[in-house]
Amino acid sequence: HLRQKFLNSQAALTGVNFAIAETGGVVTVTNEGNANMGVHLSPIQIHSMGIEKVIPKAEHLGVFTRLLARNATGQQISVFTSHFHRPKPKGEMHIIIVDNGRSQQLGRTDFRNSLKCIRCGACLNTCPVYRLSGGHSYNATVPGPIGSVLGSLKKPDTYADLPFACTLCGSCRNICPVKIDLDHQLYAQRQKSLQTDTMKHKRVILKTAAKLMQHPKIFTFTGKVMRFVLPKLPKSILYHRKNIWARYRQMPEIPKHSFKELYQKEKDVQKR
Ligand code: SF4
Repeated sequence: HLRQKFLNSQAALTGVNFAIAETGGVVTVTNEGNANMGVHLSPIQIHSMGIEKVIPKAEHLGVFTRLLARNATGQQISVFTSHFHRPKPKGEMHIIIVDNGRSQQLGRTDFRNSLKCIRCGACLNTCPVYRLSGGHSYNATVPGPIGSVLGSLKKPDTYADLPFACTLCGSCRNICPVKIDLDHQLYAQRQKSLQTDTMKHKRVILKTAAKLMQHPKIFTFTGKVMRFVLPKLPKSILYHRKNIWARYRQMPEIPKHSFKELYQKEKDVQKR
């Protein structure tokens, strides 16, 4: 079915993994060969790329293609590394260079590092939050640690909560082949996100939590009250539309005892 569509196509549109300033050519990296097939079967080829995809010289390409394949899928090299330097005979070749907020990001000294991303996906695979919640839970074009940085920079209000979907464990920074300080950027972005309207409730909750944690007795008492009250609340209150946390999530079962009580109990058992 798809093969026939490819055979009849009049134009092929591909993304671009790297563009080489020295030669003017673009390179796509795939394991399926779909970009290759599309371009070779259509008279018109269109390549769409972000401005950050440009590398200086052809000699640098080897480093980047190896980094990309190794960190994306553990391969030494991807199955297809397709180079497009000129149109086919009687064909047309167009390159679309997209800015879409990237220049602005370049001007932000603490966040410009994220433009180095080669979209290998290694930070997603290592992220404990992504591994448990999956890509769709981010509700953004690019998920995972790099997606949280890019999304919240591009649309601070829409993605204000994404920088908080992070344990700050730093595993993403460790694995990133181009050394983007993702956890630092997420932490910095949290401070900015907290100023957005979307995070009004979170600001109040965090301030209250900070106050509670400074007073252990009140903290313990509040915990007891909540463990007693929460299981008795009707769903209409627990899942009220103002409770944005519960909009896409189910409340966990409320435990009967606090962690401190369980810990103490365990210690007492061990003493006996
Ligand atoms: S931020 Fe680093 S690890 Fe994550 S996708 Fe980009 S290059 Fe890969």
